Amino acid sequence: MKAEILKMLRETGDYVSGQEICEKFGVSRTAVWKVIRQLQEEGYQVEAVRSKGYRILDEPDVITAEEVASLMETEWAGKPVVYYPETDSTNIRIRHLGDEGAPHGTLAVADRQTAGRGRRGRTWESPGGSCIYMSILLRPELTPEKAPMLTLVMACSVAEGIMDCADVKVQIKWPNDIIVSGKKLVGILTEMSTQVDYINHVTVGVGINVNVQSFPEEIQTATSLLSETGKRVKRAPVIAAVMRHFEEDYKIFMQTEDMSGLMEKYSGLLINRGREVLILEKDSEYKAFAEGINQKGELVVRREDGTVEKICAGEVSVRGVYGYV
Ligand code: ATP
Repeated sequence: MKAEILKMLRETGDYVSGQEICEKFGVSRTAVWKVIRQLQEEGYQVEAVRSKGYRILDEPDVITAEEVASLMETEWAGKPVVYYPETDSTNIRIRHLGDEGAPHGTLAVADRQTAGRGRRGRTWESPGGSCIYMSILLRPELTPEKAPMLTLVMACSVAEGIMDCADVKVQIKWPNDIIVSGKKLVGILTEMSTQVDYINHVTVGVGINVNVQSFPEEIQTATSLLSETGKRVKRAPVIAAVMRHFEEDYKIFMQTEDMSGLMEKYSGLLINRGREVLILEKDSEYKAFAEGINQKGELVVRREDGTVEKICAGEVSVRGVYGYV
C-alpha cells in the first residue's frame, strides 16, 4: 500500500485528502497516517494540512522496493522488486531467488554490495548510497547459446534509460559496458543456470555509477553521472526507465531470438564501430578494424591481413588501440 499511496501523491502533485486515500484503499485514517509517518521517516517531505490533506514536496534518493515499485510502468520487467540495503551481490541474490522459483522479471536492487563482481571474477566497486546495483531474473525459452545476447539487449535498454533521465550521451563498448567520455559508467554481467540444453534461468546484472564522487585510484577507467554532468540524479527513476526500455527491447529480441530487430539501435550506440581495436584473447592479442555487430551479437572485425573474424563475447576483451576504448 505504501508504494500505491506514494504513487497517488506523486501523480496528483497537489493535496490529496486523507478521506480520499482511505476510500481508495479501504483502510482507516490511522493506517494512512502511519504510512505517511513512515514515508517522512524515510526522508520524504510530505506536508500534512488539516483541511486539505497530504502533499508531497520532495523525495529522497532512495531505491527501496516501495519507491522503485511506485515508479514502475511495466507489465513484468522489475516485478516484484526485492530490496537489500546491503548484500553480497544482486546477481547472487537473483540466482538464489531463481532457484527458489521466483517469477520471470523479479528484480533485486541493492544500495551497497560487499562482493560486486565483473566478468571473469573481477571486482565491481560498489559503494553505498550513490549507485545502482540491480539484477533481473529471466526465464527465457531460448537455447543456452543465445542467452549471452541478453547482455547486448540490456546494454541498449540501460543506455536508453540513462539518456531519458540525465543530460548525457552514452555509448556501448561491446559487449557489456556503457561508456561516457571514454570511461566506464555501467557494467553488465549476465550469468545463467542451465541443464544440458535447457535454460533454468538467466540473471542479468547491472551496476550504474550515479552520484559517486570518486573512485579508488586503481580504477582509472570509471566515471559516474555526477562526474560527467555535475548534477545529482535520483536513482529510482533511472531503474524504472531502464526496466521500461528492457521490457520493450526484450520483446523485440524474443521475436527473432537474435539481435536483428535491435541492430540499428545497438549499432547506433556502439563506440567500437568503424574503429581500430585491440582484441585481447586469453594468451594473445591482435589489432583489427571493428565493422560492427552481426545478428548473433558477435563483433565483426577485419584483421590487418584482410581476414574477417566474428568474435563471441565469452573470453575476449576489446580495447581501443591507444587506451580503454
Ligand atoms: P572487459 O573489456 O573484459 O569487459 P572490463 O575491464 O570492462 O573488461 P568487467 O568485468 O566488465 O571488465 O568489469 C570489471 C572491471 O571494471 C574491474 O576490473 C575494474 O577495472 C572496473 N570497475 C570495477 N568497479 C567499477 C565501477 N564501479 N565502475 C567502473 N568500473 C569499475
